[in-house]
Amino acid sequence: MRDRPGATKINKPDPDVRRILERAELEGIELIRFLYADHGGVTRGKAASRSRLAERLGTGIGHTVAMMAMNILDQLQEVEEMGPVGEVRIVPDPATFVPLPYAPGAAAMLSDLRLPDGSPWAACSRTFLKDAVAELASDGHHILAAFEPEFTLGRRLPDPAGGPDRLVPLDDTLCYAATGFDTAHDYTIKLMHALETQGLRVEHYHPELGPGQQEMSIRPAPALRAADNHVLYRETVRGVALRNQMWATLAPKPLADQAGNGAHLHLSLWSDTRNLFAEGSEVRDWFIGGLLAHLPALTALTCGSVNSFRRLGPRLWSSAYAVYGPDNREAAVRICSPLGESGEPNLELKPSDSSANPYLSLGAVIHAGLDGVRRRLDPGEPVGIDPDTVPGRYPRLPSSLDQALDALEADELLMEALGPLRRSAYLAVKRSESAAFAAKDPAYELFHHMRVF
Ligand code: GLU
Ligand code: MG
Repeated sequence: MRDRPGATKINKPDPDVRRILERAELEGIELIRFLYADHGGVTRGKAASRSRLAERLGTGIGHTVAMMAMNILDQLQEVEEMGPVGEVRIVPDPATFVPLPYAPGAAAMLSDLRLPDGSPWAACSRTFLKDAVAELASDGHHILAAFEPEFTLGRRLPDPAGGPDRLVPLDDTLCYAATGFDTAHDYTIKLMHALETQGLRVEHYHPELGPGQQEMSIRPAPALRAADNHVLYRETVRGVALRNQMWATLAPKPLADQAGNGAHLHLSLWSDTRNLFAEGSEVRDWFIGGLLAHLPALTALTCGSVNSFRRLGPRLWSSAYAVYGPDNREAAVRICSPLGESGEPNLELKPSDSSANPYLSLGAVIHAGLDGVRRRLDPGEPVGIDPDTVPGRYPRLPSSLDQALDALEADELLMEALGPLRRSAYLAVKRSESAAFAAKDPAYELFHHMRVF
């Protein structure tokens, strides 16, 4: 259908647009996926054809408001202003156009959800992160961040007993074992290539604990780019697997009795070119104070699924206690020792996984840390032991999504930052997932998280 005359143009004519069109033609791109992350944590979108791309870069693609009330089982929740009436636009960010190496003929653009007049929509997650970045900038700060994702690689097989499909891990190699490099070699080289050609710079790779578990980490980037990167990363891990007749999942705990998949969040706070997390820095300690103060609530956003809480537990190196410590891998916040002279001091938030919406997760972390800096919150003493060895001494993290959501509802700062529409939709979606999975057996929960994440 043709555009109505006078349809609102949202992005102004931009030299980027011309470059995108030229590149799309040159690389034989037919479909351009406009992607966003929803309240379930799922990446969704619609694709524009190349012939309509010039117009769609300006107007976005029309979309129902209701999709931000959909949970990970595709069950639509009742949320005011997210019913059958109403329309937003999926408006791509011109800076994010990227051909997808695992889907020849397709490209992706990370997108905002905007109102038809072009103004930001109060339920757009990417806008939430942009606002958090702007808040930080008003204090003269910016952040560099990277998610450090783990995932499980294998094959998808039907269950002979007729239950949900099963993930059969690729191998049974040991943690960091050299044999694991070989079993996953063809896949990891393809993954590495696919990430690099999308502009994600790979830092390290290793086969990790448990059958089929892999970790390929990428370099930090400014906050918005870091969240965009994580959306691209998740798609790439799964997309490369699919093209190679494999199945990969970033679900926090795909196999109930095996290691979980974290996506630890690494971050450093900067003022111009100065890293404010250097050893002995008060700002770093206040930032940690903010993270710890908001941690129970934060987990509702950084560990956003029912499955997330199977992963968090003592002695799993995923963290179970709201404590911090230098190089403490059982602490929720680890102060990472920099690699050599040129290494950048950074913090690692362990209660973070790939079932979270990365825009909400990173945005909330920024609000929490900034609150700590503004109020000069004392983080208390660092913990230099496994906190589980002294029962009752340290505060536990929430043990279920419902507990985390209760904490979120009680957290004034984060509720205020989310705003009325976003928070009511997020809570409705997540409470519905909690109820839906509580009514079913664990195999159902594991499968539906593997399928989506
Ligand atoms: N797999 C662990 C987690 O769930 C992390 C292990 C590690 O430190 O790499 O967070
Ligand atoms: Mg790891």
